[in-house]
Amino acid sequence: MSDHHPTLAPSSLPMLELCPCFERGEDAAALALEPHEVTSYKDRGSQLHLVFEHVLAGLPMDCEIHLSPTEKEQIQWAVDYVKVHASLEDPLEIEQHLVLLDDKFNIITHGTGDAVNGPRVFDLKTGDYHNYWLQMATYGLMQMDRIGTDLVNVYVMFSRFHNVHLLPITREEATRRVMAVVASVLDPNKKPKANPYCRWCRKVMTCPAVVKLLEGVDVANHEINDPAELSLALKNARILAEWVKRIELHAKNLAIAGVEIPYFFLKSRQGAREIMDVKRAYELAGLPPDQFIALCSLPVGALEDAIAIKENIPRSRAKKVINERLAAVLQRRAPTVRLTPTQNEEEPTET
Ligand code: SF4
Repeated sequence: MSDHHPTLAPSSLPMLELCPCFERGEDAAALALEPHEVTSYKDRGSQLHLVFEHVLAGLPMDCEIHLSPTEKEQIQWAVDYVKVHASLEDPLEIEQHLVLLDDKFNIITHGTGDAVNGPRVFDLKTGDYHNYWLQMATYGLMQMDRIGTDLVNVYVMFSRFHNVHLLPITREEATRRVMAVVASVLDPNKKPKANPYCRWCRKVMTCPAVVKLLEGVDVANHEINDPAELSLALKNARILAEWVKRIELHAKNLAIAGVEIPYFFLKSRQGAREIMDVKRAYELAGLPPDQFIALCSLPVGALEDAIAIKENIPRSRAKKVINERLAAVLQRRAPTVRLTPTQNEEEPTET
């Protein structure tokens, strides 16, 4: 996992390519959590990487970090993938520190390759699919410099999906694109450019490029029916939605800290009541069993988790088990639709 430059971190290059002023802030999922949960949310990826490195080095999976059966299975898959695809002719180096230098030997960026093996770089991703080309091109370039070659294959291993994106990285293309981003970031006249990654930028609340999205909106035109205009309006609306969310959160935090915000006050509300013990609630409620059970709901996902843990099987297997065992009582709700951006528009992905 990474240990890198604060501005030109390899993982920020895809964002910096779209806006040279990008500065990584808390991600949206972390923002939605309570402060004590944020650390564990962020640490989980690091912990999974630690176990991955541990097992790849030949040590047992059972270390101090507790893993669910699904996580164990995912990590083992990634370890097996590396072992199958690594060449015995080159050393397999785990947690290899990599550096990218400019022509004057100044450090442009640095990071740590999860596993490198000659002209191969293996990178574990324990989360969702995102656009990793520039980040991987940077790792590839650093490994090329290290071993003196012009082509490196980067294997981006998405352990959650048992899927690998194989990216052949050439020195020519990687240098051209990485250095173009570096030049744009170092440009003293750089300007922000609103884009879908604004949601991960710490400047979104005060960024002029984001606020400017509101300009030019034809407020007299109450309906937008032209598909191209609607697409643009929707993209802008989603960036502005992040701006609204950050303003709300920031104002609330300041109010909690004691700042008076004109025309607003903090109003507290009692938390919703919840049943702590369903069995005891049944005994106390005085309702017949059928009537009581009809009021209870059982989340299918929680049931799958419980089966996965009890039977020590991956979550994907538990899902099949539940589908088979509960076939007589399982049904799907009516389908819903939502407008989903194509991957290329929301977050350009290169595989
Ligand atoms: S919020 Fe502003 S600085 Fe940040 S990525 Fe968006 S446009 Fe760039």
